[in-house]
Amino acid sequence: MRSLNILIYFLILTISGFSQIEHKKVKAKKGDGIYTLLKRYNKDSPQMHTAFINLNKNNLGENNFLIAGKEYLLPNTKQINNSRNFAIFGEKYASVETKGQDLKGAVFYIVAGHGGPDPGAQGKRDGYTLSEDEYAYDISLRLARELISHGATAYMITRDEDDGIRDQAYLPNDKEETVWKNQKIPYGSNKKLRQRARAVNKLYKSNKGKYQRMMVIHIDSRYKNQRVDIFGYYSSKSTKGKKFTSNLINTVEKKYKKHQPNRGFSGVAKSRDNLYMIKYTDPVTSFLELGNIQNSEDQIRFIKYQNRQAIAEWLTAGCIVDFKANK
Ligand SMILES: [Zn+2]
Repeated sequence: MRSLNILIYFLILTISGFSQIEHKKVKAKKGDGIYTLLKRYNKDSPQMHTAFINLNKNNLGENNFLIAGKEYLLPNTKQINNSRNFAIFGEKYASVETKGQDLKGAVFYIVAGHGGPDPGAQGKRDGYTLSEDEYAYDISLRLARELISHGATAYMITRDEDDGIRDQAYLPNDKEETVWKNQKIPYGSNKKLRQRARAVNKLYKSNKGKYQRMMVIHIDSRYKNQRVDIFGYYSSKSTKGKKFTSNLINTVEKKYKKHQPNRGFSGVAKSRDNLYMIKYTDPVTSFLELGNIQNSEDQIRFIKYQNRQAIAEWLTAGCIVDFKANK
């Protein structure tokens, strides 16, 4: 019996040894900054710096200060070679590690709704104003990052060079967003939509022949006072759009059933042809309404960053289902 236990223990050790990258633990000394610490171990490069923050994000002080006496993990070279840097995700999340190649060859356009002078729908909570565009943007960034980590190419169409992925509950509204590439967002709903539709259509041409999908992300909902689950809209003329949107919604439903079995889920995929971003864009499109930012129950889905991250991961899982079916 005892030897069996030892054998099992040994197997667990071996398996975890294979699947995980080993990280050396080091203690921060008084006055250490990240660079000083990395230099001590001959690891002071910008890539190591980003990887260090990524690896230790839960143990860093404000402004990424090191806490003296605390142990930190040192990034290793193998991990650095397996990741790429994207400044748009912000310092903490810039380094994207490759988790797999399930989406290799797929191209995604991610359009976070509103932005620039237009905050979209706004809700109130605890004395804060929640702006749709900021929360849609944070989820969009997380989605792009997940897609990239699975080998896809993902374009952030609405962008904010100052706001990376943010973990705080209340995201202040700003008007700095632009549209790919470096276009100032104009006033006026039609002008604004025409600008992003054109940006996408131009990229679509340059990626001709590839699997291409667009996701437009909103959190305002047509049902103003109700709590709503995730809805997906597609063009009634697009069989692929219907399939894509159903794959996204069905995957989200499965994930909810697994993680919150008693919750129930009322989200659906529906056709809707009168939306500008569905009508005037070339890629196969899914227009997603993630909830109602004015509804206090729905708000919990957005103010917790773990929930924003979960939505991004579940939509990515849906993209993988769709891409595999189209291969
Ligand atoms: Zn909206």
